Amino acid sequence: MISPRRTFAIISHPDAGKTTLTEKLLYVGGAIHLAGEVKARGQNRRARSDWMKIEQQRGISVTSSVMTFEKDGITFNLLDTPGHEDFSEDTYRTLTAVDSAVMVIDAAKGIEPQTRKLFEVCRLRNVPIITFVNKVDREGRPVFELLDEIADMLQLDVCPMSWPIGMGGEFEGVKNLATGRISRPEGDSRTFQGTTDDRALPERFADEVELAQAGYAEFDGDRYRAGDLTPVYFGSALKDFGVADLIGALAEHAPPPRPQPADPAPVAPENPEVTGFVFKVQANMDPNHRDRIAFMRLCSGVFKRGMKLTPSGSGKAIAVHSPILFFAQAREVADEAYPGDIIGIPNHGTLRVGDTLSEKADVRFTGLPNFAPEILRRVVLKDPTKTKQLRKALDDMAEEGVTQVFYPEIGSNWIIGVVGQLQLEVLLSRLDAEYKVAAGLEPAPFDTARWVSAEEAGDLKNFTDLNRSAMAKDRDGNPVFLAKSSWEVGYVADRYPKVKFAATRER
Ligand code: GDP
Repeated sequence: MISPRRTFAIISHPDAGKTTLTEKLLYVGGAIHLAGEVKARGQNRRARSDWMKIEQQRGISVTSSVMTFEKDGITFNLLDTPGHEDFSEDTYRTLTAVDSAVMVIDAAKGIEPQTRKLFEVCRLRNVPIITFVNKVDREGRPVFELLDEIADMLQLDVCPMSWPIGMGGEFEGVKNLATGRISRPEGDSRTFQGTTDDRALPERFADEVELAQAGYAEFDGDRYRAGDLTPVYFGSALKDFGVADLIGALAEHAPPPRPQPADPAPVAPENPEVTGFVFKVQANMDPNHRDRIAFMRLCSGVFKRGMKLTPSGSGKAIAVHSPILFFAQAREVADEAYPGDIIGIPNHGTLRVGDTLSEKADVRFTGLPNFAPEILRRVVLKDPTKTKQLRKALDDMAEEGVTQVFYPEIGSNWIIGVVGQLQLEVLLSRLDAEYKVAAGLEPAPFDTARWVSAEEAGDLKNFTDLNRSAMAKDRDGNPVFLAKSSWEVGYVADRYPKVKFAATRER
């Protein structure tokens, strides 16, 4: 029998505890046996991607990965999202491949900027959220204040599923509001899971719990799955409190693979045709091979090794002979995969972010956005004989969806666009290390970019003719208006009401 799938991601602000929680989920899920193994594996991964000097220098993980574990008959696919805010675009795309998310909040800090940004992406796609308030073993903010902040800042109903009995030095355990039982810490950590009781609470906490139960929404699975309500759990990733409950919550409430938006119609997982889409491409994992791994989310059908699939980009069927499934400890060649699973497909550049793969080439998944870059730079080549290599490198990196490249209508300096500053360094470092191209970056006379379109071709032509010095083409030849500021975008948009200016482009 096929086990049910839960494909999810963790969203959080850096330092809230995502790495620690991931490790504990894998530990509780039985996928790793030694705490600390994720970090060790992280270092391994880093060693494997030696080519990326930036990753080492900064000690951050630029690449996101997939981890699969099984518990109580359910297969969990956890998609790791890079935590650094500079890599938000990559993160956004990863969120298009999940069915739900866990939002980790630091009990002392509440909603932080990155949490909020990621939450907004989840909301765009109605991705349901389970909230985990982490670090209750330390002094945190008052629980009511935290819950109200989530509700106000995210415009979301909150439903506490558990309640911390004190925090920090006073911490006595977590009360499960459904069963009324209290889980108490024992010693320093993980024997915690088994020890529950229903002793009465000290009066102060009993009052709190009563108030909480009267004051917040009741749990409603449908409203959670519609993205209108978030159940809130309290715990400590570090001390292993509440992690098993969180897995239980995912198993019980989180949606199985959902129908995915597509043309001509949404694709349900029960559809027998094998379909999926590429949400990430990772290039040059091994400097000796120009190989890439395309990460495909399977949306329908039962995938079998060796199967022929047609990518929407090239239209030429490929046989997938060595797909990779991602288990916590090793990468294994997959014989079969089911909707909700992520498959790594090695290829030499034929697969691109946003590609649909299908047996019959009759659908196309929608809604994988390109975001308007927030930083634009002119690329200046130090050795003019390397133009071809530079173009190849820029196209490659655009294909990975990490940087965007724009070819201006006038002038010969190409412009690259990124969402975060760090990507600029990544770009230069990779140009140098992988493509042997020495290049520099100069400020561009533009600050932002918009994809332009119009119902009538004549209106678009009129606009581009009159604004040639600000026009460019993206990698796929789509017209892009480069603006000096978002104010200018507004100004120009007012003057050309028939032209649409889009900050995202769906692929
Ligand atoms: P990430 O940046 O979100 O991946 O956060 P990490 O998992 O790396 O955690 C950031 C810091 O918070 C580390 O020093 C962790 O040891 C610490 N931390 C994580 N979870 C907890 C917790 O539940 N309690 C306490 N006291 N510290 C924690």
